[in-house]
Amino acid sequence: MSNLPPEAEFEQAYKELASTLENSSLFEKHPEYKTALKVSAIPERVIQFRVTWEDDKGQLQVNRGFRVQFNSALGPYKGGLRFHPTVNLSILKFLGFEQIFKNALTGLSMGGGKGGADFDPKGKSDNEIRKFCVAFMRELHRHIGPDTDVPAGDIGVSPREIGWMFGAYRAEENRWAGVLTGKGGNWGGSLIRPEATGYGLVYYVQHMIQYASGGKESFKGKRVAITGSGNVAQYAALKAMELGAIIVSLSDSKGSLIATDEKGITPDLVHYVADLKVKRKQLTELSESSEYKNKFKYIGDGARPWVHVGKVDVALPSATQNEVNKEEAEKLIEAGCKFIAEGSNMGCEQDAIEVFEKARKEKKGDSIWYAPGKAANAGGVAVSGLEMAQNSARLKWSAEEVDEKLKGIMEACFKNCLETAKEFVPAAEGEYPSLVAGANIAGFSKVAAAM
Ligand code: GLU
Repeated sequence: MSNLPPEAEFEQAYKELASTLENSSLFEKHPEYKTALKVSAIPERVIQFRVTWEDDKGQLQVNRGFRVQFNSALGPYKGGLRFHPTVNLSILKFLGFEQIFKNALTGLSMGGGKGGADFDPKGKSDNEIRKFCVAFMRELHRHIGPDTDVPAGDIGVSPREIGWMFGAYRAEENRWAGVLTGKGGNWGGSLIRPEATGYGLVYYVQHMIQYASGGKESFKGKRVAITGSGNVAQYAALKAMELGAIIVSLSDSKGSLIATDEKGITPDLVHYVADLKVKRKQLTELSESSEYKNKFKYIGDGARPWVHVGKVDVALPSATQNEVNKEEAEKLIEAGCKFIAEGSNMGCEQDAIEVFEKARKEKKGDSIWYAPGKAANAGGVAVSGLEMAQNSARLKWSAEEVDEKLKGIMEACFKNCLETAKEFVPAAEGEYPSLVAGANIAGFSKVAAAM
C-alpha cells in the first residue's frame, strides 16, 4: 500500500471498502471517484503527542496520544476517543476511515476522525484516570474546536471521562463550546446519547427483519446473541428485549455469559452487568451473585459466545473489532442465524463477511443478511451530531424528540444502503441486496462528491 510499516487493521478496513466499490458499477458511472478513493485513504492530518501524568504513588507515567483528522469534506472531523492498551496508529486509522463513511450515512454534516491513547484504564484509580484525561486534553485542546474537530467517547471513554476532558478544555481555552459529545445531561449532553448506538443498532435490524419477512416478522420471539457488555451491548439488549427478543448472551474480554433460562438474560441482569462495568469489574463476579447464578453459564478463557449459544436468529457483535471469524460465521449460519449486524466497528473478519455474503447469494429466500458497523452502529455518532446541533442552538430536546430523530436517521440509513445496493450491484431474483456494498457505496459516494 505504501512504504510505511504495515498497518494491518487499516489495510483490512481499506480493502473491505475498496473491494466492494471495485465490484460494483460505481467507477463506470463515476471514473473520477477512483482518484477520490486514493486521496481519501490518506488522513488530512495525524497528530501524535506525549501524555505525561502522575500516578497515585507520585510517579511520572507516560503514554502516546493521537488524533487522526481523516476527512473534513462533509463537516468538522467527528469521531470518538479510545483509551485501550492496544491503541496504535493502524487501529485509529481504521476507525477514522470507517468513521468518515459512517458519518456520511447519518445524513448529518460531519467529517471523520478518531483518536485516543494506549492508556489502560483497567487497574487505575478514579484519580489516576482523571489526571490522565486532564493531561490528554492539555495537548489535544489546541487541535479541536466545535467547527474543527469534535471528539466523543469510544472503548474506555465514557461520559465520566468526557466530563473530565471537557472541564480541562474549558480551563485551557476559557470558553464553553460544544467541542466534545457524549457530555453529561446537565451540562450540554443530549438525552439518549448513551443509549443511541445500541438503540440505533436494533432499529436498523428491525428494518432488516421487516424487509426480509415482507413485514410479517419483528424481534418478537427472536433469539439474539450479543457480545460485549459496554453501553452498546447493554442498550442493544434492553431495546431488543423491549421489542420481545430473547437475549442469549453477553460477554467481556475474559469470557461469555450464556443464558440457560428460556427467558434469556433479563433487564435486571443487564443492569447488574452495567453496574459491574462502572466498577470496572469482570463478568466472572456474577458467579458470586446468588440471585443470578442459576440463570446462565459462564465460559471463561476469553471465549466468545457464538458457538455456544445453540439456536440463534440474530447476532450483534458489539464488543470490538474482529470478533467473529470464519469458523464462527459458519457455526452461526448452522445455528440458524439469519441477521448479523455489527454494533462494534469492523466486528467481523473479512473471511467471516465473505461467508455471510456467500450465504446471502446462495440461500436466496432463506437468506443470511449481514450489515456492517458503519451503517448498523451509526446511531451513536448520529446522536452526537444531534448533540452538536443542540449545543449550537443553545437548545435541549426531549428524550422522545431525540429518539424519534434517531429512528428516522436509522430508517433513512437502511433505505439508503438498500437502494444504493440495488442501483450499483444488481442482485439476482429473490436475493437480498448486499447491505455491505450498499453502505460502502452510499457513504463513499457522498464523501467523494463533496471532495
Ligand atoms: N465511537 C463512536 C463510533 O464509533 C461514536 C463517535 C462519536 O459519537 O463521535 O461511532
